[in-house]
Order: sequence, then structure tokens, then C-alpha cells
Amino acid sequence: MLTDTHAAEKTNHSRQNVLIVGGGPAGLATALMLAKRGWTNITVLEKRATADYYEPDKSFNYLIDGRGQKFTDFLGITDKLIEISVPNKEFYLTEIKANGSKKTFKLPFVDPKQKTAYWIPRRAFVLLLYQEIERNWQDKITVLFNTTCVEINKIAQEHAEGEQLEVVSQTQNGRVAKFEPQLLVGCDGIYSIVRNTLKEWDKSTSDRFEMKCFPSPSSKLRYKVLSLPPNFPLDNSGEEHAVCTMSYAVRSAFRDSRRTLSLGLLPIKNPDEFRSANIIRLPNHEIWKLKNSEQVYNFLEQAFPQLPIHQIVSPEEAARFASSEGGYFPPPQYCSGLHFELRHKQVNQGMGDPSSTVGVVLLGDTIHCFPPDIGQGVNSALEDVCVLNEALSKNDDDISGALPLYESLRFADVKALIRLAQIAFPWQYNQAPLRTKLWNVNTLLRFLLNRLLPQIFSPPAFFLIRNYQLSYQEILVKAQRTTQILYILGLIVISGFLASVFRLVQI
Ligand SMILES: Cc1cc2nc3c(=O)[nH]c(=O)nc-3n(C[C@H](O)[C@H](O)[C@H](O)COP(=O)(O)OP(=O)(O)OC[C@H]3O[C@@H](n4cnc5c(N)ncnc54)[C@H](O)[C@@H]3O)c2cc1C
Repeated sequence: MLTDTHAAEKTNHSRQNVLIVGGGPAGLATALMLAKRGWTNITVLEKRATADYYEPDKSFNYLIDGRGQKFTDFLGITDKLIEISVPNKEFYLTEIKANGSKKTFKLPFVDPKQKTAYWIPRRAFVLLLYQEIERNWQDKITVLFNTTCVEINKIAQEHAEGEQLEVVSQTQNGRVAKFEPQLLVGCDGIYSIVRNTLKEWDKSTSDRFEMKCFPSPSSKLRYKVLSLPPNFPLDNSGEEHAVCTMSYAVRSAFRDSRRTLSLGLLPIKNPDEFRSANIIRLPNHEIWKLKNSEQVYNFLEQAFPQLPIHQIVSPEEAARFASSEGGYFPPPQYCSGLHFELRHKQVNQGMGDPSSTVGVVLLGDTIHCFPPDIGQGVNSALEDVCVLNEALSKNDDDISGALPLYESLRFADVKALIRLAQIAFPWQYNQAPLRTKLWNVNTLLRFLLNRLLPQIFSPPAFFLIRNYQLSYQEILVKAQRTTQILYILGLIVISGFLASVFRLVQI
């Protein structure tokens, strides 16, 4: 067993002794925020081997918008983000049909009045945060890679009647360590051990740490990623090559719902980096039945006759693709408990020291998780960190006041975010072509009505989401108000029509 450095250095300072479980965007951002606030002795446990560890099926692109940039601005790293990402000033998409024809469209997803958002692969963004730790905060933050949090216990305080935390971690080679943090931060994603432990501790009194799941048309979709070489040829003649900063939708020759598919590629800055082609289809699609590389080649060659498949999909990649499990989009979900306080008794009673509070706080996918339709996974996680920062500022870093404030400031937005994830853009994967068309009509109608009567009609919700000055609650209220007005107008039109028919019949 390793020596517990946290226990050894334990003091009564409120800004010390933090353990963060999960070194994804939320975990590293929280560590940086706390370090910038003057906290020390911050340890991050991350089960992956490195910050930029490459997992093909997690190699998706983030779009860091104004909401996420509130955090990068706070930390002063927005310039670095801009250097390594692709600005989304206008969204152009090149569609490549099965007959080889190519057409580039400008899609109306960008609001020129909003801050420019930036495309960046997940691992490049996590690496950016980690490099910031290495460069400026090494004395305050320690990131332990290859280290998994395996157990969290409540134990009796040594010289008081309260409880304290004991967190057990294990490295890949089996070394076990124990920590006794004063503040435990759960940033360990959808299957969070921190949240699940709180659920167990709290289950007799509430279901605050139970994820509540909601239906969404995109949540049953399966996904896998096909890695394509940088600048791969876009046709069999090899004349045209993919440009890294361009988005592509490569359409298949198949038309039937069980075989038709698209390869979706989003922009990246680095021209030497592999391109991730996202494949997102219903669970009954033929692509999920491919068992080996030969079947993968056969299927892709028939599906995409416009591409030199053998040239752009290596045998290793075909085999990896066949054996990969991929994943399912999760249903939109949230939990209502964002913090937990242990029963405690002040060690130095009467000295006005608030630091004896032992607390747990949750951020990111640990408290809200949803399919990637609205591109808010990382932005909402970074906004959580900003809200926690605000709550700490208002409480002079005393966690006994800051953690409940964080929950009360953030929870209504978390709920609204999950509702937006359900309604804003779930039909974009063409999983039900008729519903997708209806959704397109609905979106176009809202755009047009908003242009004509902006005081009465709001733009579609997925468009409003990019307005980082609006909270998720405000966006939801605007979208729902437009829906209500559309329903009322619809009712008036139908009633008028029925009244005219009735009058005609009477005549
Ligand atoms: C297919 C797919 C596509 C997506 N596309 C987008 C997108 O386009 N845009 C977007 O904004 N978001 C997208 N998301 C969501 C996005 O990835 C998350 O919302 C975002 O990463 C949240 O960050 P996080 O730090 O809260 O959680 P995560 O990124 O999940 O990080 C959690 C970290 O905790 C670590 N961990 C977990 N358990 C333990 C443990 N017991 N001990 C130690 N470490 C642990 C994990 O290794 C991981 O590094 C997508 C998600 C999926 C699945």
C-alpha cells in the first residue's frame, strides 16, 4: 500500500486536500479552476494511460462554443484553443453521393452574431488542459494516470464525532493507495463510481443520486468510428483529396433502411491526423453484424463505390472496426443531487474554522448525460466548472456554503439542458426519414417566423443553444413559448377550416 500523502499533509485549511475522480474535460478543468483560486494539494485520478490516449470510438470532435469559452477565458487559454482548432465561422458540408458527384452546402447552423465556436478533437482538448497543468500548476495539481478509483468509504473521524472520506485507488499494476480528501469531486462520467456511492449512502432517505432517464429519438442509436488516413482520396481516380478543415457526408449506394448509411466527418486542424468517420445507425442495421475484416471490406465496397475503400481502410482498421463494440447513445438523463456533505463536527470548535466540512461535489457527465445531438456535452461540463467557481467565490471558498449554492445555482439549468437534449435536434441522423423531413419543416418554419416577427417567435432551440449569454432555462422557455404559439395558431387555422366546411355543408 502506498503512503497516503493527503493524510500525511492534512491541515485545517479550506483550500487544501482535494481529490478529483476522472481526468476528462470536467475533471481537469475543475483542477485548474481550483488551482487558480489558490487551492493546493489537488490530485486527479484518471484510469486512462495518458491525457491524449487514443480510443478510436471516443475520437469525436468537440465544438467549444461561447459557453465553453467562459472557462477557457477564465483560465486565459482561449488563444491556445484557437491555435489548435478550426473556427466554425460558417458551416460548409461537402456531400459525396454514391455516383461520385460532390456538392458543397452552407448549413444554417452558425449564428454570426455569436462568439465563434471551435472544432477540436476530444483528445486534443484534454491534452490542452493537461499541458496547462504541466506548464503552470504542477506544484498544486498532480494527475495520476493509469489509476482507477475503486472504492469510496465513510470512516469515523479520528479526533471528532464526525465522518471523513476514504477513497481507494488502484493502478494498472495493482498498487493500491488511500486518500482522505476534504473535498471529493466526481468527474468520472456516466458510470460514475462517486455518484453511485452517494446513491448507496443516500438511498434510505432520497433518490437524489439516481439518474433519471428520459426518452429521445436518438438515444437508441448505435455508433462506431472508422479511422481514415489524413487527406484520403475522395474518388477512385485519386484526383481529389479530403481537406482536414472541411466536413464531409459520404452517402452510400444502398437505399433500404437496414443498409443505407453515411460516413460523417467533422473538421480538424492538424492535416496529419487521422480522420474519424462517424457511423450512426439503428441497432438493426447490417453494419453491426460484420464479424471480420473481409465482411467489412465487402460491405464498404458495395456501400461506397465512389471511394477507393482498400486504399483508405487499412486491414488493421477493418479488423479493429469489426471487433469493436462501438457504443449506444445514452438516453438524456440527470440526477438532482449535485453535492453531498458528510456528518461532521468541527475539530477546532469556537475558532470559526469552516474547513472541517467534508464534502462531495459532482460535475459534467456524472450529473447530466445525453446523445451528442446538441454538442453541449463538453460545453455544459465547462459551464458547471464556472458555476462551481462562482459558488466558491460567493462563499470565500468555504465548501459548506459553496456546495449547496452550486447545486441551487445549477440544478434548474441541468434539468432544462436534458429537456433541450430531448427536443432540440434528435432527428438529425435520418433514423426515420419522414420524421426527419417533418423536423426540417418545423425548423424552417421557426427560422422564417423568427425573421418576420422576432419579438414573437424564437429561432429553433438548437440555434439558440449557441447563445452562451442565455441559460439553458431561458433557451427552453423561449423554445416552448414558440411551440405554444404555433399550437394556438394551428388550432385557430383548423377551427377556421372546420367552421368553413360546416358552413358550406349547411348551405
Ligand atoms: C459518441 C459520443 C459522441 C459525443 N460527441 C460529443 C460532441 O460532439 N460534443 C460534445 O460536447 N460532447 C460530445 N459527447 C459527450 C462528451 O464526451 C461528454 O459530455 C464530455 O466528455 C463530458 O466530460 P466529462 O469530463 O464530464 O466526462 P468524460 O469525458 O466521460 O470523462 C470522464 C473521465 O473519467 C475517467 N474515469 C471514469 N471512471 C473512473 C474511475 N473509476 N477512476 C478514474 N478515472 C475514471 C474516464 O477515463 C474519463 O477520462 C459525446 C459522447 C459520445 C459518447
